[in-house]
Amino acid sequence: MSVYLDWAATEPMWPEVAELYTETLHVVGNPSSIHRHGQQARTLIDESREKIAQLIGADPMEIIFTSGATESINTWVKGRAFAHRHSMNPPVLLVPQTEHHATLDAVTWLEAAGFAKVSWIGVDGDGVVDCDQIADVLRGDEDADIAGVTTLVANNEVGSIQPVDDIVAIATQHGVPVHIDAVGAFGHIDVDWAGWHLDAMSVSSHKVGGPVGVGALVVSRDAAKFEALVHGGTQQTHRSGTMDVAGTVAFAAAVELQLGVVATERVRLEQLRDTLRQGLIASGVDLTVRGSDNNRLPHNLHITVAGCDGDVLLYLLDDKGISVSTGSACQAGVPEPSHVLLAMGVSDRGAKGALRFTLGRNTTPEDIGRVIEVFPEVVSRARAAG
Ligand code: PLP
Repeated sequence: MSVYLDWAATEPMWPEVAELYTETLHVVGNPSSIHRHGQQARTLIDESREKIAQLIGADPMEIIFTSGATESINTWVKGRAFAHRHSMNPPVLLVPQTEHHATLDAVTWLEAAGFAKVSWIGVDGDGVVDCDQIADVLRGDEDADIAGVTTLVANNEVGSIQPVDDIVAIATQHGVPVHIDAVGAFGHIDVDWAGWHLDAMSVSSHKVGGPVGVGALVVSRDAAKFEALVHGGTQQTHRSGTMDVAGTVAFAAAVELQLGVVATERVRLEQLRDTLRQGLIASGVDLTVRGSDNNRLPHNLHITVAGCDGDVLLYLLDDKGISVSTGSACQAGVPEPSHVLLAMGVSDRGAKGALRFTLGRNTTPEDIGRVIEVFPEVVSRARAAG
C-alpha cells in the first residue's frame, strides 16, 4: 500500500487539470506574436488571468505570472530593495525568522550584497510571528528607510496560521507595504487578497494541484514601487519572458478546482489529521505535537519524536510505502535542524526528530490507519538505529 502524506511539498495534479494541460501543450503560437496563432495563445493567457483574478477577488492587471513562488517572492523582496537603491543607507526588510527559504535566502543575499538590512522578527513557541516586535521596529526609528514586511500566511513546516490582519494593521499605520507568502495556505484556508489590503502576494500552481513551474505574484494596483528582476521582452510589466500558455491555463483550472473544495476539504482533512494525531499519541511513543493547537492548517500535523532522527524515521516510513517529510521539501537531505523549530525555542536535539505529515484531497482513512499501524515499529527501529 502506498501512502502520500507530503502534499505541502507538492500536490498530485488534478486529473482534469493534467488532461487540460496536456491538451493545451499542443497550442501553437507565441502569445506575444500578432498573427492569429499568437493571438489565440494570448487569449488563453488572458482568460486564465481573468479567471484567477475573479476567483481571488483581484483585478486581472494585478496578476503577474511567474515560474513559481520562489520567483514571485524574490521579485518582491529584491524588487523592493532595489527600488530604494538610491537611499543613503540600505533599506530595511522586516522578516520573520521562520519564513520559507525562498524568502530567507533572498533577503540574506540582499543583506550580504549590501542592498538591504534585515530586521529579523521572532516567533512564539507555536511559531506565530511576534506582532509587538514588528510594531517596535516600525516605531523605533522613524528615519529608517523601511522597504516592507513579508510574512507567511501559515508556516509551511508546523502549520501555524499567522496574524496577517494584525501585521497589515501595524504596517499600514506606518505606511509600510506588506507581502505575503500564501503558498501553503492558498487553497486550504481562506486567503483574503482583497480584504487584507496587501501590497503583494505569492502563490504557486503545484501547491494547488496544478503543474510545477508556474506561479503568480499578485501586486496591488496601489503597490509600492518595485524594480523588475527579469528583463527582456516586457511581456508582462515587471516580468519578461515568453509566457507559458499550457502552464498558465492549467494553473487557472487548478485554482478553480482547489478553491471550490476549500470549505469541505477543510473539515474532512481536519478530522483525518486529528485521527492521525490521536493515533500517534495513543501509540505511546514519546512525541511532541508542534505548532498551534487550534489555529493551524487543516491538513498539517507536525511532530518531533524524542530520541530519533527525523531522516531515519522518514526512510523507514518510506520503506513501508509512506511518504512524509521532515520539514520543508527544499531542505530535504540538509542535516541541520529546522530553523523554524529552533526559532520556536526547540533544542537542536529535539528538532532532530521532526516529521511533517500533510494531507490532501486523495487522503483516505485507510492511509491514516496505515501510518498509525506502522508507527510504533518504525520508531523503535529508528531508535535502535541510534
Ligand atoms: N513558499 C512556501 C511556503 C513553500 O512551501 C514553497 C515551496 O515549497 C515556496 C514558497 C516555493 O514555491 P515554488 O516551489 O513554487 O517555487
